Amino acid sequence: MKIAVVGTGYVGLVTGTCFAETGNHVTCIDIDKKKVEKLKNKIMPIYEPGLDLLFERNIKQGRLEFTTSLSEGIKGAKIIFLALPTPPGEDGSADLKYILGVANELGPLLDEYTVIVDKSTVPVGTAEKVRANIQKGAKVEFDVVSNPEFLREGVALDDFMKPDRVVIGTSSERAKKIMDNLYAPLVRQGNPIIVMDEKSAELTKYAANSFLATKITFMNEIANMCELVGADVDMVRKGVGTDSRIGKRFLFAGIGYGGSCFPKDVQALAKSAKEVNYDFEILTAVMSKNESQKMKLIDRIKTHFNGDLSGKTFAVWGLAFKPYTDDIREAPSLVNIKELLAAGAKIKTYDPEAMENVKEIFGNEIEFCKDEYDAAQGTDALLIMTEWPVFRTPDFGKLDSALKNKLIFDGRNLYNTETMAELGYTYHSIGRATVN
Ligand code: NAD
Repeated sequence: MKIAVVGTGYVGLVTGTCFAETGNHVTCIDIDKKKVEKLKNKIMPIYEPGLDLLFERNIKQGRLEFTTSLSEGIKGAKIIFLALPTPPGEDGSADLKYILGVANELGPLLDEYTVIVDKSTVPVGTAEKVRANIQKGAKVEFDVVSNPEFLREGVALDDFMKPDRVVIGTSSERAKKIMDNLYAPLVRQGNPIIVMDEKSAELTKYAANSFLATKITFMNEIANMCELVGADVDMVRKGVGTDSRIGKRFLFAGIGYGGSCFPKDVQALAKSAKEVNYDFEILTAVMSKNESQKMKLIDRIKTHFNGDLSGKTFAVWGLAFKPYTDDIREAPSLVNIKELLAAGAKIKTYDPEAMENVKEIFGNEIEFCKDEYDAAQGTDALLIMTEWPVFRTPDFGKLDSALKNKLIFDGRNLYNTETMAELGYTYHSIGRATVN
């Protein structure tokens, strides 16, 4: 089957590559000329584990192509995916200008029945708006389907190729058959394709992300309580996570969630609720609590250094919003670095994948290092922002001699507090007693 994917970011590139891998002919379209040039030259514009192998194979076998031209790219496509950005607008609602703009252009370009699929995360009612925009110029029949994407950056290939479920929002039998056929190779183990109306599909994605953001925030609140009453959040996590009604995942306390999805999706759902005169209070609390959580370690750092950070140098391990990605959108590391710089501190940092992206923000303001020990060299304290596995079992001997003080502020609870006490560190973490 011939498929087109409009928007070649984290979602579009994974979608396009994976559907090429299952035997379809895919053309990926993007307005970013530099990105398309890179892709045509077989250069990956993003870091996503394992994607490069599939990408190269499918280009080589002629099933994966790239273009900047919408009209060229969609020629002969039975399905057109819209994997376009939906960033927050000024009022916090999802900005649909990219999606609706492309929908406007699509109508006159369709020359046979086509299924247009919203893969982006969009508010309830967007499929209807996309349909109306296409209809204005369309000469042929078409259907608009809502097919939200649940992949996680860092494990996107696995998530896409073996999804827990596929959600298809459509009231068209014809479109449903085409979508079923496309997804059949990915659900062979029996995971469900759940078909529903468009609005429910659109809301499903926001509900999933907002629930997960709430789960994380709830545990961060428990961690804050733990600190006040002298309990250990890791013990509490194990205690509650083994309850099958709660589950073990998404219960790790830390310095707040980030990324391109949770912050904007929680905000967009709260805004959508407001538009129908519903005050989704819990989401307002999640958003403000997450913001304050991001600052947790800064407050402790300032207290430790009696409020004076001028002339101090901090090592920052990890910049990406989570491990196995180079994505830094809304990453807690950025807020922490900005705060430290504003307080007169210097920063030395290392991240296995995200340094190039952070250079675009901070340039020469901070020092980018070749590895984690180089970053720690001569600094007053270490700050851990991302739980990259390489930071989990460092050579503490090497770290001791690199750091000026045995002082760690750990936003991801990577180390056992007893071990840190034995090693003689002053160790601050989240929801656990400080080791002095
Ligand atoms: P992204 O910013 O990485 O990529 C979007 C791409 O669209 C960019 O390459 C951009 O150049 C391109 N683009 C913009 N306007 C265009 C146009 N008119 N024509 C062609 N291309 C155009 O975004 P993303 O992270 O892939 O997210 C896309 C959507 O998927 C968003 O709605 C997001 O919420 C949702 N989503 C993202 C993830 C994730 O983990 N990143 C997971 C699930 C869902």
